[in-house]
Amino acid sequence: MKNILPTSTVGSLPKPVWLAPPEKLWSPWKLEGDQLLEGKQDALRVSLHEQQVAGIDIISDGEQTRQHFVTTFIEHLSGVDFENRKIVKIRDRYDASVPVVMGDVAREKSVFVEDAKFLRKQTNKPIKWALPGPMTMVDTLYDGHYKSREKLAWEFAKALNEEARELQDAGVDIIQFDEPAFNVFFEEVNDWGMAALERAIEGLHCQTAVHICYGYGIKANTDWKKTLGSEWRQYEEILPSVQKSNIDIVSLECHGSRVPFNLIELVRGKKVMVGAIDVATNTIETPEEVAATLRKALEYVDAENLYPCTNCGMAPLSRNVASGKLSALSAGAAIIRKELAV
Ligand SMILES: [Zn+2]
Repeated sequence: MKNILPTSTVGSLPKPVWLAPPEKLWSPWKLEGDQLLEGKQDALRVSLHEQQVAGIDIISDGEQTRQHFVTTFIEHLSGVDFENRKIVKIRDRYDASVPVVMGDVAREKSVFVEDAKFLRKQTNKPIKWALPGPMTMVDTLYDGHYKSREKLAWEFAKALNEEARELQDAGVDIIQFDEPAFNVFFEEVNDWGMAALERAIEGLHCQTAVHICYGYGIKANTDWKKTLGSEWRQYEEILPSVQKSNIDIVSLECHGSRVPFNLIELVRGKKVMVGAIDVATNTIETPEEVAATLRKALEYVDAENLYPCTNCGMAPLSRNVASGKLSALSAGAAIIRKELAV
């Protein structure tokens, strides 16, 4: 890893067209059985290659082996019926067809561990693996059993912890929990959401991260953002709890958003993955635009703790746009590294 400003993505990258139709969420697989398994591994190789060519320092799996960042994990748990789905409103924002909790949830087998072992064999660079956070999982299904968001989050946290320990043993360097729901349900975050996340990281010795954002660049999210006013101060409600937690790294949306940069000060001392690439636009940032965002962030994050990143996952973007953005992120970080070296 370069000494300072190691770059990474939040997690997802577009899938190859032969694996799943691009530019949509919950895109169905085009292959089946053994062919699907092989296709997923080939996609992991391609996404690794694209990250390496772009000069990304911390490699992610590009979420090539999962249909969706939350539901794929849930579908691997017992106690959940993923055939008879229900429509629920996610983050009070948009309808989605989601699995239903019918009984006690448990992780009877690993979900991503084999994929992580496969990726680990392909590269010596540090690997980051994203898992959904407990609160975001609770918010992405219908609970017909526990009837308590807090209780269900606790059960999910136990299952996530089992998975995280095995991912760590498989050689994953950073385990990240995606918690976009933290930006919506502040009271619950401070009441039980952060505690559930702490349960999920219990006993881990690898680095841990939480990603809190304003969502993919899909219409329901961009419409919601329009209602948030001239300053987005959601982080102000939750970062104090994150600051007190044992989480090592905080991944935040910064570029092209209305988040006041000084809110990053609330997690001073933590490592911060600063979102310097907007995933809600097809316009590819120039390296100088990326550098400008990182420069602003440096007022509130010490250089050794600054990890240039994307605002969120890039799954819904076209492959060309995503790869252009990866290169811009690297080039922008290189500008700042040079400035810091002077
Ligand atoms: Zn995100």
